[in-house]
Amino acid sequence: MKVYHSIPTGVGVAKVMQPLPNKGLRQISPFLLLHHIGPILVEPGSDALGVGSHPHRGFEPVTFLFEGGLEHKDSMGNIGHLGDGDVQWMTAGSGVLHSEHSTKEFKKSGGWFHMVQLWINLPKKHKMTEPRYQDMRDAEIPRISLGTHGSYARLIAGIYDDQVGPADTFTPLNAFHVIAQPGDSLQVRIEPGYNTFVYMLTGSGSLGPQKEKVVRHQIAVMDQDISTIAFSADEPSEFIIMSGEPIDEPMSSYGPFVMNTPQELQEAIRDFQMGKMGVLEE
Ligand code: MN
Repeated sequence: MKVYHSIPTGVGVAKVMQPLPNKGLRQISPFLLLHHIGPILVEPGSDALGVGSHPHRGFEPVTFLFEGGLEHKDSMGNIGHLGDGDVQWMTAGSGVLHSEHSTKEFKKSGGWFHMVQLWINLPKKHKMTEPRYQDMRDAEIPRISLGTHGSYARLIAGIYDDQVGPADTFTPLNAFHVIAQPGDSLQVRIEPGYNTFVYMLTGSGSLGPQKEKVVRHQIAVMDQDISTIAFSADEPSEFIIMSGEPIDEPMSSYGPFVMNTPQELQEAIRDFQMGKMGVLEE
């Protein structure tokens, strides 16, 4: 297991912590990028995110909104709203333009805002698939009881015991949002051979076979041969576990495009400039 600290950066108007990619860590295939915002108390009248129209091609931008209100618009005419605990699993595929802002209601009221956006790669054979969205409400996400003090995991993708996460994915992967109670010790089984990381959203505790101390904004890349993740919470803590079958293909990326070759990247840039990914007026 190897632990990295997040790099502070910015997206739109938001202050963002970026654990991935990181110095010496280009990707944890199929996971490419992780942006974490908050939890932050947003003033009434201001946008929590404020990300204007921009394109994507070749991967899946996935948004976990833990708290707040988020409005998504895209060049195919879709408008989606996310609330507390909702997830949007977007397949950019061949290309789409979208924007991400606070909902009108959340902008008016202000309040706590907490989200993660994760970029998940698509295998070569699905990079140019039709763009699509999976909007999942908190109530559709199964909860798995963990530990002995009321800790639990929300199963967003994959199968665990007899539960099935609602996200449909192109490569086999598991996505968990874990809420750990102070003093609780819990274990989550994962698939040996998958690439797995734990990212600490809030709190702190000890993680892994060596009971290494981890705190918020740290990412732990787990060894590939492990089959269990063990965590003991020092305080109320939340983290995500992402575990997926690695995509063993060349990668060529530039900004919002993630392809296999430099030629495909140039095509992506050209197609975007020619309006082939659509138009989105702000
Ligand atoms: Mn985006």
